[in-house]
Amino acid sequence: MGDEHDHAAAAAVTSRGSTAAAAIEALFAAEGMQGYLGEPVTQRHHMLLAATLAERAGAGDELVAAALLHDVGHFTLAAVARPGGPARDDRHERVGARWLARWFGPGVAGPVRLHVDAKRYLCATSPAYASALSAASVRSLALQGGPMGALEAGEFLARPQAAGAVALRRFDDDAKDPAQPARELAHFLPLLGRLARPA
Ligand code: FE
Repeated sequence: MGDEHDHAAAAAVTSRGSTAAAAIEALFAAEGMQGYLGEPVTQRHHMLLAATLAERAGAGDELVAAALLHDVGHFTLAAVARPGGPARDDRHERVGARWLARWFGPGVAGPVRLHVDAKRYLCATSPAYASALSAASVRSLALQGGPMGALEAGEFLARPQAAGAVALRRFDDDAKDPAQPARELAHFLPLLGRLARPA
């Protein structure tokens, strides 16, 4: 009896996992070929490359998934994206995290929600980081509130997903080279399927 129940639960997770993977595959196919806000890569390549870099760095499954999906909020906001970046901040990290929370736990959605704050934190605490930012990223920084003050930086660091968000941010910044090869989405789908939670 208990055994049967366990099997049923495992089957539900598996089917939930493939639903999540299919939804993400459809999003990448429909909107992934859009330009990435003034950077020389497509959204799809940018996100696949971020996940490839995370995996290569030995990041855990949830952080690899967060890297793969960190800009998914731009996909659902494609209608407002313009070449050179949006005229005002689109809060894509919140839209994306909310969408991801349907499928995944805080280890995936949390770093995504905080990845813009992580940039503001790093700009406040690391002059080397700030001076290496891409031109498009510097432009969006101003719209996103600029570097954090000391108080805000302290509050940011105290959040449970802050370390993941900072790590994700560095993969994000390093994933803007169209010539650098990335793994295909199919490579990451089983991982997404494993991480998806029951509805
Ligand atoms: Fe990004």
